[in-house]
Amino acid sequence: PEPLLKVDDLCKFFRISRNAVLKAVNHVTFNINKGETVGLVGESGCGKSTTGRCLVNLYEPTSGHVYFKGKDTMTLTKAEQMKFHSDVQMIFQNPYASLNPRMTVGEIVSEGMKIHTKLSHAECMEKAEALLHRVGLNKEHMSRFSHEFSGGQRQRIGIARALSVDPEFIVCDEPISALDVSIQAQVINMLKELQDDLGLTYLFIAHDLSVVKYISDRVIVMYLGTVVEEAPADELYAHPTHPYTKALLSSIPVADPKVAKSNKRIHIKGEIPSPINPKECCQFADRCVYATDRCRAEVPKRKEIEPGHFVSCHLIDQ
Ligand code: SF4
Ligand code: MG
Repeated sequence: PEPLLKVDDLCKFFRISRNAVLKAVNHVTFNINKGETVGLVGESGCGKSTTGRCLVNLYEPTSGHVYFKGKDTMTLTKAEQMKFHSDVQMIFQNPYASLNPRMTVGEIVSEGMKIHTKLSHAECMEKAEALLHRVGLNKEHMSRFSHEFSGGQRQRIGIARALSVDPEFIVCDEPISALDVSIQAQVINMLKELQDDLGLTYLFIAHDLSVVKYISDRVIVMYLGTVVEEAPADELYAHPTHPYTKALLSSIPVADPKVAKSNKRIHIKGEIPSPINPKECCQFADRCVYATDRCRAEVPKRKEIEPGHFVSCHLIDQ
């Protein structure tokens, strides 16, 4: 079947001065199928949020294409655009900055419905109440302002807002990384339940692999604007293949100290290089212990080493 979303050779570049181009997303290709959760993982600055924003049309790609249900999202008619903007939603990383402080919770949650549906005001309010209830808040919260709520409650409001227009696909951009550890699991479990009940499809962005392990069907690893590895989740955690994925996995904290001791850690040397004017080569070359001259001169191609397991690394040829 046709994937719900197809990302084809997507680039998003930002010109920051006459001689400097920041290549936030640099030739990225992947698909998302209906009903899946795809984890998108990488360190901050690797382009994962920018990729997410291109997917929901908050950013216009510099080149390449995003197809939603087979249609190029850059060439939609006005009516198709309206539909697209309710079919795809985004939940943001910062629940403090992403809610308008001058609007009541009821206004925040019903705003999208007023644009995208023909519901009356009363019907919008009724639906907003039901949604708040669904995310663990209640109708007494409707007339309050977002600053009166905790981070976890604000993220619930953000989730209710996203759900208000009956989306099919949601980009969850690090939805729990700003929250207390004690409530992270609650929010993840709630997102999972909502997915099962409503048949949602997620792109779940996170900066470490441990967060997405239990919720992702497939995982995509990004490094400096490029996808280095993509695989079904079980396969990725059992057989990480790209040197960067291996390094990321070896730095997952292990709860049992005995296991932690025996677990060989692979350290990545150096700092993340700048994505400004990147060289045409493997982006990981400066930090990879296996790097050869070829790695510093040639961009590695994406190769399928097992069904659905893609790796971009020159080591694969050997
Ligand atoms: Fe390391 Fe070369 Fe593979 Fe890049 S292409 S990850 S530098 S071995
Ligand atoms: Mg980000």
